[in-house]
Amino acid sequence: LAKSGSRNRYQFYIASIDREMRKRRQLENDLKEAIGKGQMNVVYQPQICYSTGKFFGAEALLRWQHPEFGWIAPDTFIPLAEQSGSIVAIGGWVLEQVCQQLTTWLKEENMQGFKVAVNLSTVQLHHTSLAVQVARLLEVHQLPAGSLEVEVTETSLMQDVNAAKRNLQALRNIAVSIAIDDFGTGYSSLSYLKSMPLDKIKIDRSFVQDALTSEDDATIVRAIIQLGHSLGLKVLAEGIETKEMEDFVVSLGCDEGQGYYYSKPASPLIIGQLLKDYALARR
Ligand code: C2E
Ligand code: MG
Ligand code: MG
Ligand code: MG
Repeated sequence: LAKSGSRNRYQFYIASIDREMRKRRQLENDLKEAIGKGQMNVVYQPQICYSTGKFFGAEALLRWQHPEFGWIAPDTFIPLAEQSGSIVAIGGWVLEQVCQQLTTWLKEENMQGFKVAVNLSTVQLHHTSLAVQVARLLEVHQLPAGSLEVEVTETSLMQDVNAAKRNLQALRNIAVSIAIDDFGTGYSSLSYLKSMPLDKIKIDRSFVQDALTSEDDATIVRAIIQLGHSLGLKVLAEGIETKEMEDFVVSLGCDEGQGYYYSKPASPLIIGQLLKDYALARR
């Protein structure tokens, strides 16, 4: 009896792994057609500068509405797209969408100088034609210098330091600024970081959110801000959800913030309206 019971357990286990793998393969396949079928869209989350009190820019975040499984989080589908290679097409599409949106936004009177940050996957970061692709987009859309930023993670930087450095330098040369995303969660060597052409550190939201209750996290946030400033970089705190969190990071001299306290990621229309209302309220 015990024997057949454990065999059933194994069979159950194998069946559930099998189901997982099949779903994964299906998602990988569906990803190839997601853009063509209009299932993807880009939302934006505003970023605030604490010294001016203004929303100077926004981060572009990708969304996928699957016809069968509904909304799928980027933390789930981006890794699949990286492994299956479709990230190159998807990432290119995101960049194109962002440039189009910037063209529209920069015509608005209250959005002069606005900047959009785009997340780059590891594959994109190491792709030899990255800077050429971005340069072409900036030219086609006639975007002003400084209107585009890219976000890369420590871990993806460290995969091939020389290739990353070459590509980031090439992006810098065409006035694209560079932020390190989720800082503190990856493994990066400080000596490599120092040699990279960077503009900004984004402190991972896990540290920011625990800083009010954990002395250790507060210390980490303080240390990252000091490190960033001593390297001549701007520092942005991710995941600001409350006034208390804002007060805390501002008290440490943090330059910029982003999080649900200001706005959740939203459609360009909603973000445009939010910025208008905000500008009016400040008059
Ligand atoms: P990320 O680049 O670190 O983006 C920030 C994530 O934190 C977003 O999740 C955002 O919605 C969430 N967030 C912002 N403020 C708050 C807050 O106050 N509280 C909480 N709990 N969460 C907050 P999202 O949109 O699910 O994206 C997850 C990750 O997926 C991103 O992390 C990024 O690594 C990746 N991703 C998203 N869009 C793209 C893309 O176009 N290309 C690539 N390569 N990766 C992307
Ligand atoms: Mg990001
Ligand atoms: Mg982040
Ligand atoms: Mg993240």
